Amino acid sequence: MKTKFFTTFSLAILTVFCITVAKGNGPLSKGNPISKETKIETKIDSLLHLMTLEEKIAMLHANGTFTSAGVKRLGIPDFTSADGPLGVREEIVRDGWAAANWTSDSATFFPNGSALAATWNPKLAFRYGEAMGEEAHARKKDMLLAPAINITRTPLGGRTFEYMSEDPFLNGRLAVAAIQGIQTRPVAACVKHFALNNQETERGMVSVEVSERALREIYLPAFKAAIEEGHALTVMAAYNKFRGVYCAENDYLLNKILRGEWDFKGLVVSDWGGVHSTIGTGNTGLEIEMGSSGSYDKWYMATPLLDAVKAGKVSMAAIDAKVVRILRVMLQTSMKENAPAGELNTAKHYKAAYDIASESIVLLKNDKQLLPLNSTKIKSIAVIGDNATRLFASGGFGAGVKTKYEITALKGLENKLGKSVSIQFAQGYTAKMDRQKKAIAADPKLITAAVELAKKSDVAIVFIGSNRSYEEESIDRSTLELPFNEQALVNAVTAVNPNTIVVVIAAAPYDLNEIKKNNHTIVWSWFNGSEGGNALADVLTGKTNPSGKFPFTFPVKLEDSPAHALKTFPGENHIADYKEGILVGYRWFDTKKIEPLYCFGYGLSYTIFAYSALTTNKEVYNKGEKIFVTVKVKNVGNMTGKEIVQLYVSHLKSAVLQPEKELRNFQKVMIDAGKESLVKMELNVTDLAYFDETSNKWVVEPGTYKIMVGTSSKEISQTVEITIK
Ligand code: BGC
Repeated sequence: MKTKFFTTFSLAILTVFCITVAKGNGPLSKGNPISKETKIETKIDSLLHLMTLEEKIAMLHANGTFTSAGVKRLGIPDFTSADGPLGVREEIVRDGWAAANWTSDSATFFPNGSALAATWNPKLAFRYGEAMGEEAHARKKDMLLAPAINITRTPLGGRTFEYMSEDPFLNGRLAVAAIQGIQTRPVAACVKHFALNNQETERGMVSVEVSERALREIYLPAFKAAIEEGHALTVMAAYNKFRGVYCAENDYLLNKILRGEWDFKGLVVSDWGGVHSTIGTGNTGLEIEMGSSGSYDKWYMATPLLDAVKAGKVSMAAIDAKVVRILRVMLQTSMKENAPAGELNTAKHYKAAYDIASESIVLLKNDKQLLPLNSTKIKSIAVIGDNATRLFASGGFGAGVKTKYEITALKGLENKLGKSVSIQFAQGYTAKMDRQKKAIAADPKLITAAVELAKKSDVAIVFIGSNRSYEEESIDRSTLELPFNEQALVNAVTAVNPNTIVVVIAAAPYDLNEIKKNNHTIVWSWFNGSEGGNALADVLTGKTNPSGKFPFTFPVKLEDSPAHALKTFPGENHIADYKEGILVGYRWFDTKKIEPLYCFGYGLSYTIFAYSALTTNKEVYNKGEKIFVTVKVKNVGNMTGKEIVQLYVSHLKSAVLQPEKELRNFQKVMIDAGKESLVKMELNVTDLAYFDETSNKWVVEPGTYKIMVGTSSKEISQTVEITIK
């Protein structure tokens, strides 16, 4: 009897222990999880008991543009934040948006979100996060407003440059790594914008209607991974409404899903100016109101909230729950004991920026093998185009970085080749536009000068694309057309110099139809951070073998993209009805058999990779099992390179509509020239599930599935079928 009791008792303890460990929330679960967690919860409890209602309310809204109040007499400091995701934003005045003009707030400028996604490299995403976390800590920020992980639903989306990709799996892998990196320091990552901020048009009032299935399969998985695997400590609610209710007070998103299903224990902060009510937000909404207008005490979550509590319209329990969440984050950030100091602008941070930029650059065409440039034969290069000398760390509406330095494309080439090659620059075009982003008429003199320079140079490199003012927060683009009459410049230069290379620097899809047809050498780079120019020069000269792949589909024409084909962008009467459902990005193009200009996952290398021998460990699987996949990839060219091996899955006979294929894993591998690598990837049988709207559950249907492996979403060279029982 005694033994039995003892065994049951120990088992119970063990179970509690296991559950606690399994549920451990990020930094809390490191080391000795129980005692650390308990210590934090005990501390929260004791602080809460000492706080007045007024002090609690003061913590629930801002007291500065990027700060909210602590409780001085209890040793609780203000809670401070700074923008990412391009790096830690410069210091601004406490109560406004003007630069504070400090001299100690420069930081590393990191490649933009879609650039990071184009690396398909979670290890780099971790280093990006780690460096930013360290810089945020050095700048005494408790919360870094990054990463931004909404799905790229339309190629016109204003924030395509900040977001990562059109695929939830790719977003999820990179987000998890970035968050884990940031939170290696006592800084909370803030995953934004939860949820469904996929357009900027009417972002402050549009209500997104989306099927439950698309919500679960496309728009939420990266957020879910960010919480459950990345253990993000904070989340930013999006500006928009979801199913008629603002995200800042959306019970379904915040309570049922985020705090309920995903067991999120951290805090939710509003987007700046994203709170719209006192009682709704007080009862069902987020923890901290930021960026509203007027004096702080008049904000929704300030005096009006205090009054609402006194009137019994918002419960004390709801207020306490919010304060507990804020304290829980603070005890792991600003109030964390013995945290080592952070550092700004270290060589390691700039190296991380360089490595990301290097792996993000996408080679689109190299038909004449003009690349890598043979610097022993080339005596002169014409560097043409405004983007060759443009800086991308700031500009336009939204967060930028006051970076210590930024290497332009021209500077990068000069650094690399300046001693042996004559490099001359011609502006080519002016990046001037009107308020509608229409280019101010082309200056023929600039084109003439560029053509003259191109004529007398061995090679002409035309740098076109967009810039930070053209792609910006708060406004979607109106067209895919290349801006600033760039096409005319490309045509004119190409006509006089057969060795013309087009380098596009931009962060979202553009119309490259003519260039793809007429030009033999095309390279894509991004708003590529402090080291962007050096990384690009190293790719052009062959020190780096390009290995980036597009994280989104380039349509031949806008109407080919799902939201535009179905005319559901930007919506009507403030409603954006995502009628395309789960068929977002390549899922749409593949399923509808529409040929894209460049497909998801596209990108070339200076070498060639040959795939063979795709196998799975079994042919038939039970639910709950793992599928182990191997494939041989051989570098059959003569330059060492990195390949992104992409694994897609297709369900052959389903009761419901299924996309033609979906990314379920990928791996970036470095393979020496002539060598073969055995690439191993795994997935769970549960990863094959779809979200069934009738039962509201994930369902793995029995039947045959095709596993496809290839170098892009459209170049699948190996397939194998498996059966799920
Ligand atoms: C953006 C957020 C940003 C905030 C603070 C908002 O306009 O949507 O992403 O963090 O401003 O700058």
